[in-house]
Amino acid sequence: MSENSIDYSKYQAVIGLEVHAQMLTKSKAYCSDAYDYGSDPNTIIGPISLGHPGTLPKHNKEVVNYAIKMGLATHCHIAEYQYYARKNYFYGDLPKGYQITQDKTPICTNGYLEIKTKDGNEKKIGITRIHMEEDAGKSMHDQDLYDTLIDLNRAGVPLIEIVSEPDIRSGEEAYLYLTEIKKLLKYLEICDGNMEEGSLRCDANISVMIKGADKFGTKVEVKNMNSFRNVQRAIDHEIKRQIEALEAGETLRMETRTFDALKGTTAAMRSKEGASDYRYFPEPDLPPLRITPVYIDNIKQLMPELPKALFEKYTKQFGLNEYDANVLIDDKDTANYFEEVLSHTKNTKSAANWVMVNIRSYLNEQALHIKQFIIKPAQIAEIIALIDEGKVSHSAAQQKIFPALIESPSSSVLSIAESLNLLQESNSDELQVWIDVAIAKFPEKIAEYKAGKVSLIGLFMGEVMKASKGKADPKVASALLKETLDKK
Ligand code: ADP
Ligand code: MG
Repeated sequence: MSENSIDYSKYQAVIGLEVHAQMLTKSKAYCSDAYDYGSDPNTIIGPISLGHPGTLPKHNKEVVNYAIKMGLATHCHIAEYQYYARKNYFYGDLPKGYQITQDKTPICTNGYLEIKTKDGNEKKIGITRIHMEEDAGKSMHDQDLYDTLIDLNRAGVPLIEIVSEPDIRSGEEAYLYLTEIKKLLKYLEICDGNMEEGSLRCDANISVMIKGADKFGTKVEVKNMNSFRNVQRAIDHEIKRQIEALEAGETLRMETRTFDALKGTTAAMRSKEGASDYRYFPEPDLPPLRITPVYIDNIKQLMPELPKALFEKYTKQFGLNEYDANVLIDDKDTANYFEEVLSHTKNTKSAANWVMVNIRSYLNEQALHIKQFIIKPAQIAEIIALIDEGKVSHSAAQQKIFPALIESPSSSVLSIAESLNLLQESNSDELQVWIDVAIAKFPEKIAEYKAGKVSLIGLFMGEVMKASKGKADPKVASALLKETLDKK
């Protein structure tokens, strides 16, 4: 059947994602080996990481805390008892011959995450479960001509696996879901979210069915996508491939496929092994953990404000529009910077504008991240204060003080304004001199003004600004000018 004659809109895609996130703990999941991305291969591998006989794993409490944080952020139920399980399989990068994971009793269950779809609607994507597990080592097939090389540094690094319900309906929704997951992980400071370095990994389960069908189709799992965009591309391609296969009368089988980013296509890797192949059984070396409600409450107290709460605060309390609010919270460091500016000024609108407009365009131009921004939030607040007090004009602050401060970040804002001769005069004695000069220039216009031609105030103000060489504070000067004219 030719592609052209297929009615793709007859079909509904169904997608569920499995996301592995590497936890940013200082040491590994079940031993004290440090974990640092980029360490020399096979240098952080103590006997427990290597699974030497007689060694015993030990809980890293921080991993449990991190998993609970993610569970709370995604509205999950937190299980009271934590049992660990062994997942058995043989592979060169798994020296123990099994992974410690959770099987029947994941730490978090039954939550959800909200995404905002293109049409502006909120959509809840169910989170089936989040469980804790340890990573395997890394096999590298492309470093040596003949041999596969193995780096065991990653063996035992803590992961959480976040499994979604099959609630996602398109590649784009998957992209939005992943963006929200990453945002939460970064706000919670439990994972750096870097997909290229592998600290965030995603497998996509995809099936298609005729719209309105009451049973899902056969799912295919796609692996090896190294960016959110590639997850989206892989899903979009896979949906199309499955529909075309079905329309051609083929039967789909459960399988694992790999994504080829260059071609934008997926290829069969292996037929899907059943869960029973892993022979899960309770981990005998780790006692179960009990998590009390008090313990969970304590963690709740430590949670930072999450993007959704910030969005509500920025739009409802600060009156920012939705677009601005979203830009500010999109990245935690930007939101933090903004919040810090706010701890030094009450002018939220102005603070938002400085972060959104001036700072952001400077950072974009220089290809810098806000963490590398040299001006301190307190200094931005000082600029805002000078403008609000009428000491400098808005345009002078933007065009002169801001760039000068970047050049010389240890100077005070006031001293920069002074040295650039940008301080406006609001002292009425000084202003009066300039006003008198301005009025004296157009004696005949005074009567016209007094007869009701109030627009002449612009002419006089122009003269005041000229006489003051731009240093007169326009607000104070124009009030004083009116007063002076009225007295004439
Ligand atoms: P498996 O046993 O193969 O790991 P699970 O039931 O654990 O399968 O589900 C794994 C992921 O696949 C989950 O994210 C789930 O939402 C998703 N999923 C399950 N069934 C389907 C389906 N028919 N189509 C698409 N995704 C599915
Ligand atoms: Mg599964």
